[in-house]
Amino acid sequence: MQQKLISSSTRLVGLFGNPAKHSLSPVIHNAFLKNTGIDAVYLTFEFPDENFDEAFIGAKRLGLIGLNITMPFKGNAYKLADNKDARSTAIGSVNTVKFNSSTGISKGFNTDVDSFVSSLEDTGFSWNGSNCLILGAGGSAKSSVFALMEKNIKTIFIYNRTTKKAEKIKNSYSKEKRIKIEILEGLEGIDPGSVDLICNCTPLGMDTPGVSELLPVPDKWNLKDVFIFEMIYKPLETRLTIKGRNEGARIIDGLDMLINQAASSFKIWFDIEPEKEGIREKLIDFLNNQN
Ligand code: NAP
Repeated sequence: MQQKLISSSTRLVGLFGNPAKHSLSPVIHNAFLKNTGIDAVYLTFEFPDENFDEAFIGAKRLGLIGLNITMPFKGNAYKLADNKDARSTAIGSVNTVKFNSSTGISKGFNTDVDSFVSSLEDTGFSWNGSNCLILGAGGSAKSSVFALMEKNIKTIFIYNRTTKKAEKIKNSYSKEKRIKIEILEGLEGIDPGSVDLICNCTPLGMDTPGVSELLPVPDKWNLKDVFIFEMIYKPLETRLTIKGRNEGARIIDGLDMLINQAASSFKIWFDIEPEKEGIREKLIDFLNNQN
C-alpha cells in the first residue's frame, strides 16, 4: 500500500526512552503503518529522566494515539498510567500505553510476556515438563519468568551475578507455588543436557567494547537440541547464538522478540494484526546499513 502523505490529519505514535535514538521500533512501526494504510507516523523521543512525567502528560494532552516505553521509563509509565492491564500490574512495568482522546484516560500494558511466548511458540518450543534457565534478573528476565509461570513447565532456574535480584524475582512470584523456581549461585553445577531452554537476559554479547566477546554460559557446555533465546539483537549473531548454531541448538533471536513485541503494541493501538512478513529482512537491511 502507498504511504499516505503527512497532513493535518496525520496522528502520532511514539517511543519514550533514554536512549531511544538508535531504536529499531520506528522501522517496524512505520512499515506496519504503511502496509495497513493508517494515517499516522511513529517517532522516537529521547529526553532526560526527570522530564518523563511532563512528557507523558504532554503526550496525553496532545492527543497521541499511544506510546511504547523503553528503558529506563517502564516503571515510571506504570506509575503514571491511569489504568493498567493484569500483566503490567503483576510485573509492575508498562511498555505500551494507549491514550483515549475522548475520555483523556491512559491505559498501560505489558506486551513483553506475550511476545516472549509467541517467539518461542513460532519456533516449536514445547512447554510441557521443560526446564528453563534464565540468565539475568533485570526487566526482561522478570517478564520472561512471568511468561514461564503461566505455562506447564517443570523448573525455572535463574542465574544472575547479583543473587539478591534473582531472589527478588522469585519472591515476587511466591504466591504461585505450582512451578519450582531455583536460584543458582553459579552455572558450573548444572548439567546442560537437562536444560531445554536458555534465555539470555543479560547484555553479555552486546556490541559494546569489553562485552561483545563474552559468553553468558560456560564454554564447555554442549548446546545440542537446546532452545536458545537470545534477547540481544545488536549484533544479530552473538557468541551465544554462534556457539548454539554450531552445536545444533534452536535459536530465537532478539529480532523475533522485537517484531512480536511491536505487533502486540500495534494491535493495542489500532486493533489490527499487522503483517509481519518481510519485516525481519527490512531490519537486517537497516542494521547492515547503519554505521
Ligand atoms: P536490565 O534490566 O538492565 O538487566 C540486565 C541484567 O543483566 C541484570 O540482571 C544485570 O545484573 C545483568 N548484567 C548486566 N551486566 C552484566 C555483566 N557484565 N555480567 C553479568 N551480568 C550482567 O536489562 P533488560 O531490560 O532486562 O535487558 C537485558 C538485555 O535484553 C539487554 O541486552 C537488552 O538490550 C535486551 N532486550 C531485548 C529486547 C528485545 O526486544 N529483543 C527487549 C528488552 C531487552 P545485575 O542485576 O547484577 O546488575
